[in-house]
Amino acid sequence: MSSAESRRLDTQAVHAGRPRSAPDFTPTVTPIHPSATYRYASLEELDQVFAGTREGYVYARYGNPTVAAFEDAVATLEGGESALAFASGMAAIHASLLAVGARSASAVVAAQDVYGATHTLLSQLMTSQGVTVRFVDAGDLNAVGAACDELRPVALLVESISNPLLKVADLPALADIAREHGARFLVDSTFATPHLVRPLELGADIVIHSATKYLAGHGDVLGGVVVTSEALHAELFELLKMTGGNLAPQEAWLALRGMRTLALRMQRHCHNALSVAEWLQDHPRVTRVIYPGLSDHPQHLLAKELFEEGAFGGIVSFEIADAGQQEVFRFFEALALCLPATTLGDVHSLLLYPAHSSHRSLTREERARIGISEGLVRISVGIEAVEDVLADLEQALAALT
Ligand SMILES: *Cc1c(COP(=O)(O)O)cnc(C)c1O
Repeated sequence: MSSAESRRLDTQAVHAGRPRSAPDFTPTVTPIHPSATYRYASLEELDQVFAGTREGYVYARYGNPTVAAFEDAVATLEGGESALAFASGMAAIHASLLAVGARSASAVVAAQDVYGATHTLLSQLMTSQGVTVRFVDAGDLNAVGAACDELRPVALLVESISNPLLKVADLPALADIAREHGARFLVDSTFATPHLVRPLELGADIVIHSATKYLAGHGDVLGGVVVTSEALHAELFELLKMTGGNLAPQEAWLALRGMRTLALRMQRHCHNALSVAEWLQDHPRVTRVIYPGLSDHPQHLLAKELFEEGAFGGIVSFEIADAGQQEVFRFFEALALCLPATTLGDVHSLLLYPAHSSHRSLTREERARIGISEGLVRISVGIEAVEDVLADLEQALAALT
């Protein structure tokens, strides 16, 4: 009975300004849709959406148009059938493991140098739930094969480029091993991005990203995404609806916005990283430089074969001569442009000290055994003018003498 104008202010405050009908214009940019739910012209249509016989949205945990746009974009860039976005890279990894059947009495084989939180997820949570987890050197194909022979795992999980030693995974060979043993091959490709390599084309079943890093690219989003076949997508979707680790629409919008410049940023990250690596090689205070684009990197030829021409990623690790924690801290504190901070893949250059962050929980001896010395530093090279990054590194290294 009451027209909109005659309603009380209390009611107007709640209802005024709602969309009245579908617009007949199309924005050129995907809008942010914060709506938790949706209306349809008839309840019959809503019923069809619930039944899955009509495309549409009903409730945010089941899907959101802004998030779907981000998912479409990542699936396209990775050459996958579909993608599903999560609230973080870790939520994406956890859901992927569950989707392929990591349950009590099953087994998972993973690269020993996976991301720290992934290592903890496997060695603590998954193990406590009855999953047998075996960590192997993913560069030793015989060891991977032997672990798969013994355990018949549901999943083989590796990173396309490892952290912080930047080992490049032989994705086609590992995919063969997984297939021969009936395991799904999961690749965390956060460090490589689809600009360097598209693991699904090389035999991976699932590609995972922490979108927090290069995909979003500006250090202002926490997000994760999983790219799969339609069949695995259905498993993941059921899990997401049940457990609710959804990416929020605002975050999806920022990530999609960031991805528009992924190719440009990656070209610059790769170019700058190679310049930094070559410059560090000639620096008297630096004893070792690790970068897949250097000819002395153990998997340089593999990287050339697998990666986009001339692209080796934006991360460089290096060892400062005779440095322990005290010297590394002094070096970090002397930086004036590059930021000492625990993330990577942002537009600005970031430095991290593995011995006191990502690999802090290991003893000095354990770190030494896997090749992480007390003087090892990781730089995520940004898209600044590389001369300015080099000048900052130069003056900060000079502060050590
Ligand atoms: C950061 C990162 C993760 C975890 O992602 P979050 O978005 O922080 O949850 C997983 N794997 C790799 C390789 C990462 O760098």
